[in-house]
Amino acid sequence: MEIKVVFLCGRKRGRNEHHRMKNATDILKEGGLKKSAQRIAVINILQAKQKPLSEDAIKGEMGEIYDRITFYRTMQALCGAGIVHKIIVDNTVVEYALNAEGCPHEHVHFFCTVCHAVTCMRDVAVHRYRLPADYEQTGCEVLIKGVCPSCLKATR
Ligand SMILES: [Zn+2]
Ligand SMILES: [Zn+2]
Repeated sequence: MEIKVVFLCGRKRGRNEHHRMKNATDILKEGGLKKSAQRIAVINILQAKQKPLSEDAIKGEMGEIYDRITFYRTMQALCGAGIVHKIIVDNTVVEYALNAEGCPHEHVHFFCTVCHAVTCMRDVAVHRYRLPADYEQTGCEVLIKGVCPSCLKATR
């Protein structure tokens, strides 16, 4: 069983912040993590692609420095530090995305059932459900399934 620890962030960036992308070293420093080749590579890849990626996709981009054991430790550290969040689609599909800068808020994820693309909907906040008083919420993950715009276009 996976323990779901999700750090989500989706604050809209201000006009001036938008073009100033922090580099991997700054991001690690702010997250209180030491630099390592793997951590830097993962952040660079997620930053370049600007979308959630699976382990396989990240592995493909990492090339020779990829190592299975190190990858898990790297992702655990990055998720724990609030730098990356994990999107669990099902038992076989897990994707990772870079957190947006700023104060965390939980956003909705969209899974396209046709092309299997996972999208962070940073402008769509997770709804706050009213729970019975004796339950304490520690997180909320919303995965919406459907057809993405490009697949919809292809079927028309
Ligand atoms: Zn699609
Ligand atoms: Zn996301």
